[in-house]
Amino acid sequence: MARQVAIYGKGGIGKSTTTQNTVAALAEAGKKIMVVGCDPKADSTRLLLHGLCQKTVLDTLRDEGDDIELDEILKPGFKETLCVESGGPEPGVGCAGRGIITSINLLESLGAYTDDLDYVFYDVLGDVVCGGFAMPIREGKAEEIYIVASGELMALYAANNISKGIQKYALNGKVRLGGIICNSRKVDNELELLKAFAEELGSQLIYFVPRDNLVQRAEINKKTVVDFDPESNQASEYRNLAQAIDNNTMFVIPKPMTQDRLEELMMEHGFLGL
Ligand code: ADP
Ligand code: SF4
Ligand code: MG
Repeated sequence: MARQVAIYGKGGIGKSTTTQNTVAALAEAGKKIMVVGCDPKADSTRLLLHGLCQKTVLDTLRDEGDDIELDEILKPGFKETLCVESGGPEPGVGCAGRGIITSINLLESLGAYTDDLDYVFYDVLGDVVCGGFAMPIREGKAEEIYIVASGELMALYAANNISKGIQKYALNGKVRLGGIICNSRKVDNELELLKAFAEELGSQLIYFVPRDNLVQRAEINKKTVVDFDPESNQASEYRNLAQAIDNNTMFVIPKPMTQDRLEELMMEHGFLGL
């Protein structure tokens, strides 16, 4: 059975970049992976596909009805990763979260979840913690969640809210928090703050990804860093993150904190001396 991993976090925090680099590193290490983009922006697989603008599942359903072949929506990317973008509803119409489940159900019925897969990664827009975007958790699709955050209050606020969603559905299901990934914004004392935040949740800071302009340079070239500059430090960072996830055994039901406690943590660790 493939490990079903979902990456959540505030918009713009670096979910898609981090997911694709992690997936590229795992693929390089010989793992078989499917990536399912669950953000209406549909840019979760662009770097793995070298910029190919893949038609989304929901657009394909709208244009062609139910008679869809798997290879229309599942494209091969870097090192034989399998890439899907679920897409979004017509703007102003329908629920984006329901769209995600429609896509996943279609993938299941078309036989995309093959036995040879080691991982399925879902890259999910997460600052809206409505029932829609919690769908992959609610429906028991994603079982192992990583939250991308940084030392900025809004990122931690979103991460705490996402933890509330996980806690709610963990009580009756298999979903667990695997850890917090810090995607550094070079905030003062960020490492200490993120460690304290993760521990307060009863979880762990699974990896600290440094900020590096190489990420953007690779992105302009429509590649992950692992693909664009495999010898670079940043590529090694992503390989280490991939290893940490591959070796992870700490899966918990998170204990979210109050807003007051979150702000207190920031005072204690983030803004020491201010
Ligand atoms: P999300 O998917 O959470 O909305 P993205 O992965 O699209 O966020 O990232 C937003 C921007 O941040 C992108 O332009 C990306 O290149 C940049 N970025 C992400 N991680 C890093 C990093 N570690 N160093 C530098 N830039 C980064
Ligand atoms: Fe949008 Fe969420 Fe409401 Fe669905 S549940 S319509 S995704 S806000
Ligand atoms: Mg994204």
